[in-house]
Amino acid sequence: MYCPNCGKEYGQKVNFCCHCGTAMFPPQPVPKKPLTLSRTDKKIAGVCGGFAEYAELDPTIVRIVWLVSSIFSGVGFIAYLIAWIVMPKGPKLEKSSATVPAASAQPAPSKQPA
Ligand SMILES: [Zn+2]
Repeated sequence: MYCPNCGKEYGQKVNFCCHCGTAMFPPQPVPKKPLTLSRTDKKIAGVCGGFAEYAELDPTIVRIVWLVSSIFSGVGFIAYLIAWIVMPKGPKLEKSSATVPAASAQPAPSKQPA
């Protein structure tokens, strides 16, 4: 395998290039999560929460970065509004039906005489 960044060749599997530090994880078929507004973690519209879920980051970190970029450049504020408009809403939370499998709804088998 070769480092995609610096091109250094490795004979064995390595996670990081020891030459330049680039992550060299093998390509994994990770199901791509859709970028959606978060329903579970939202302060205004769920944009930051959605980005945090998408990127698997702490939503607080995303909010801080977004807020700082909004204050200092205004880009973050515009980007928030755009993201709010274009991002679809995340899936609705259905606690009752989705999580409980149908099999567990059946009554337990009653005692039968041997
Ligand atoms: Zn490298």
